[in-house]
Amino acid sequence: MLRFALLGSGSDGNGLIVEYGSTRLLIDCGFSVTETTARLARLGLKPEDLSAIAVTHEHADHIQGVERLARRFSIPVYTSQGTQHVMASKWSRLQCKTLQCTQPTAIGDLELWPYTVPHDAREPLQYVISNGTQRLGLLTDVGQSTPHIEQALALCDALVLEANHDIQLLNNNPRYPSSLKSRIRSIYGHLDNGSAQQLLSKIKHQRLQCLVAAHLSEDNNHPDIVRKAFSEALGCEEDWVHIAHQEEGFPWFTIQ
Ligand SMILES: [Zn+2]
Ligand SMILES: [Zn+2]
Repeated sequence: MLRFALLGSGSDGNGLIVEYGSTRLLIDCGFSVTETTARLARLGLKPEDLSAIAVTHEHADHIQGVERLARRFSIPVYTSQGTQHVMASKWSRLQCKTLQCTQPTAIGDLELWPYTVPHDAREPLQYVISNGTQRLGLLTDVGQSTPHIEQALALCDALVLEANHDIQLLNNNPRYPSSLKSRIRSIYGHLDNGSAQQLLSKIKHQRLQCLVAAHLSEDNNHPDIVRKAFSEALGCEEDWVHIAHQEEGFPWFTIQ
């Protein structure tokens, strides 16, 4: 069975674990090694259990712990050419493996399918992870959906989908300067609840067993708003929609 969990989700750090057979893939590591080790322990894992790390893009909340974790535990790192380029000086002692968009890469018992997304990074990728029959789709850190994204996320058994902000809460937030609001709202920024809801309406299907809303802004969103938006899109009960938290992450979910 394919199963997955999140170490944490949000602008202070991200990490998704996917396990199948003896393969355990960590996607992004936005925490220190100590913090990552503690969060892995909550899931019954140690850093030595990781087969590989795949990186989506170079923002700190996704890469903070990658270099130290990879070197200390000799874990291979997979990412785009562009992410390697921008990290070249900091990652000079890492041997990275380059991923090509939409070409699957076998990592142990898993297949990693990268796809490109609009976000303000050098060459950001998001991923569909498969064991050949079951598919987990990951999409966070994306300014807007595209036909390419809809195609990539078709027929997933589980989805981890960004619901970053509520437009009104963001617009009315007095603590955010207008330049930051513009960056978040831009087509290379982050996905708001309404846009995520529209995407979900387009890609929903019978096989979907699990939906996890991720990368919620602690200042400009609320889980209740997200549950309402996503349950309307799927026509399901609000408590069917899971929320990934910054501190607690999301516990193991096994795809049947
Ligand atoms: Zn992020
Ligand atoms: Zn980002």
